[in-house]
Amino acid sequence: MAYKITLIHGDGIGPEVSRAAQMCVDAASERFGFDVDWEEMPAGEEAGKRYGSVLPEETLKSVRENKVALKGPITTPIGSGFRSVNVDLRQKLDLFANVRPAKLIPGVESRYSDVDLIVIRENTEDLYAGIEFDEGTKATSDLISFAEKNTGKRIRKDSAISLKPISIFGSRRIAKFAFDYAKANKRKKVTAVHKANIMKYSDGLFLKSVQDVAKKYPSIGFEDRIVDNMCMQLVIKPELYDVLVCPNLYGDIVSDLCSGLVGGLGVAPSANIGEKYAVFEPIHGSAPKHAGKDEANPTACILSAVMMLEYIGEKKAAAALEKAVVEVIRKGKKVTYDLNQRRHVGTGEMTKEIVREMGGSA
Ligand code: NAD
Repeated sequence: MAYKITLIHGDGIGPEVSRAAQMCVDAASERFGFDVDWEEMPAGEEAGKRYGSVLPEETLKSVRENKVALKGPITTPIGSGFRSVNVDLRQKLDLFANVRPAKLIPGVESRYSDVDLIVIRENTEDLYAGIEFDEGTKATSDLISFAEKNTGKRIRKDSAISLKPISIFGSRRIAKFAFDYAKANKRKKVTAVHKANIMKYSDGLFLKSVQDVAKKYPSIGFEDRIVDNMCMQLVIKPELYDVLVCPNLYGDIVSDLCSGLVGGLGVAPSANIGEKYAVFEPIHGSAPKHAGKDEANPTACILSAVMMLEYIGEKKAAAALEKAVVEVIRKGKKVTYDLNQRRHVGTGEMTKEIVREMGGSA
């Protein structure tokens, strides 16, 4: 069997961790008898400088053709500059479900002993829709007049405004994905995360949609939590939770919190899944201060590649690679700085150790 997979290295530590994952997948493919033909495509800051676009059309075309991509993190300027390439990619490919597991690996230092959570984040709507109105523009002033007239509320004239669209379609679709995921992975409970007490229409509609879908899955437990309480509950007793289904923004924040429970961003993988395509990437960003120093933890990107191998049906390779990662971390001798402050190795050495542990030649 041969697979053609798009590989986007990204910015900052992106190329270091994506090459680490590539090396592990190549070793796994050699051991389990399948081929991976990587199609390396540009996106991000470097692509902007070199090709005049931070998300070139050829890169999108490659993912559309290959259907599967592995991606390193991409820098997004804060406050001004280009919009997030990551958000753009997810919207253009309609990768509506962001699956973010947070499972404690033995050997990772954590305040907790029993964490095994899956955050399922809606990936296309909410405040991430990118519908924003800048302060001082005519469009913003018109929008303020419209909103004031229709709600009777006052909005300061020097405001900027971001819209938060949440649809029945989007909410039902992510709810169905979460319950199907729970069923397929023998999970017991889905918790909907929201702030419907304050945002009665947008979050209220999300909650109502998830509640409706939940009725079709009587074998899976269902409950809901207000997002602020959810954060507190996760910090105090994460073992009480299983699958969390969230609108876009809360999903982003809550999943970073969950990654903190299991050792930090260096070990947190994710999958962006749609009807037609899937893009696998670590949760973490481009961590510019660590870039080019051979010190970033490759685990998050390698575990994202594990999710990718499962997705394409190479379950044995996925299990072997995951086992090798877990074993190297459990031994704790050849791991990066974030996993062992006293004794650590670089990104490259940890990756080679994972390949060796899997029985490959590094
Ligand atoms: P970040 O995740 O890049 O880094 C935050 C901190 O987490 C780092 O300083 C480091 O201490 C730690 N960390 C992250 N990854 C690590 C790894 N692999 N190994 C060891 N430690 C690691 O978050 P940030 O600094 O807020 O964002 C930097 C840039 O990345 C921003 O431009 C942001 O927009 C972008 N970003 C991209 C993605 C993506 O591509 N999907 C996701 C998040 C942030």
